[in-house]
Amino acid sequence: MNNKIYSLVIVGYGGMGSQHGRKLEEVSRIKVTGVYDIKEVRQAEARTKGYKVYEDYQAVLDDPSVDIILIATPNDSHHPITLQALHAGKHVICEKPAMMNSQEVKDVMSASEETGKVFMVHQNRRWDEDYLAIKKLVDEKELGDVFYVETRVHGSRGIPGDWRHDLKHGGGMLLDWGVHLLDRLLILFPEKVTSVYAKLSYILGHEVDDGVKVYLTFEGGRTALMEVGTTNFITLPLWYVTGLNGAAVIEDWDMNGKVAKWDQADTSDAVPIVAGAGLTKTMAPRAENTVSEYPVPRVECDVRDFYYNFIDTIENTAERIVTNEEVLRIMTLMEAVFESDKTGEVVHLNL
Ligand code: NAD
Repeated sequence: MNNKIYSLVIVGYGGMGSQHGRKLEEVSRIKVTGVYDIKEVRQAEARTKGYKVYEDYQAVLDDPSVDIILIATPNDSHHPITLQALHAGKHVICEKPAMMNSQEVKDVMSASEETGKVFMVHQNRRWDEDYLAIKKLVDEKELGDVFYVETRVHGSRGIPGDWRHDLKHGGGMLLDWGVHLLDRLLILFPEKVTSVYAKLSYILGHEVDDGVKVYLTFEGGRTALMEVGTTNFITLPLWYVTGLNGAAVIEDWDMNGKVAKWDQADTSDAVPIVAGAGLTKTMAPRAENTVSEYPVPRVECDVRDFYYNFIDTIENTAERIVTNEEVLRIMTLMEAVFESDKTGEVVHLNL
């Protein structure tokens, strides 16, 4: 068994770079040895953690003791930093969104192939418990055949930070949160995407989107809604999933929510109920004894598995969890989202 400890340098030691530093303290096969950041204040912070602070990026590339470069810089810089790292013989963990467009992903895939060095994108939200609970319900057909999924995140504080407001740095909420939610949707519904209709929002007047709604249709007819909002004072559920035998809702990251499932067909004719200013038979509830409700399942998950899978991928001892083909597919889908928003039309795909 190989017990090599890999030396990793974090490039971009801001919010997410320092989060990686903390997480990696719990990963025995990787040691964070250094940091490169253009800001002095972040360099000073790295020194307090005992990391070697590099003067410039070339010094990281030239250091033969460095095995892995972890990129947590603003989105537009992922492409050049990754290409240089791979060509210098380093393996790369890169933050999401991998790149700014599908051509950049293709460049990096070619460079990874050419150099034999691993490039893997940190799609860490595949380890979120809310997503894994929904995946379990869908995979195990707990709700029968699932035909519709809504996935969203809502906040009310607008776009945070600095570079996330700038088009040239790859700001905006589609690239920020949308990439996570689309990534997971494409795993839940693995069939091809056949159409996309999308609307980005510019409510706060920035040059980049402060929110996005995407409607997806999949081969065979299943549909999904993906939504990111930063101007929502009341938040709607993270997940709402409907199948032929039931539905599930997850309200928040504390896993509040429920599953509702019919146990037996309700063969009785519906009794009309008073609803608002009228009567309705269509919206009358099912007979109580035909439906059961229970909490959403809890799922054990540990995002450190991402880093362990990265090492296994380097050593060729396991299937990689986040593939570059998946990353390319998401990036191509996001291009269709931008196109649909721009033209106001449905974009037809075979993706
Ligand atoms: P941040 O602004 O907090 O940190 C970015 C850091 O990069 C800053 O310290 C900045 O000085 C440094 N930097 C900028 N250009 C650089 C360069 N060329 N070389 C070296 N350092 C440079 O931003 P953040 O929120 O940490 O986001 C960084 C990346 O992480 C983004 O790609 C973002 O999408 C991603 N991110 C991912 C998650 C996740 O859950 N996977 C969460 C937050 C951010």
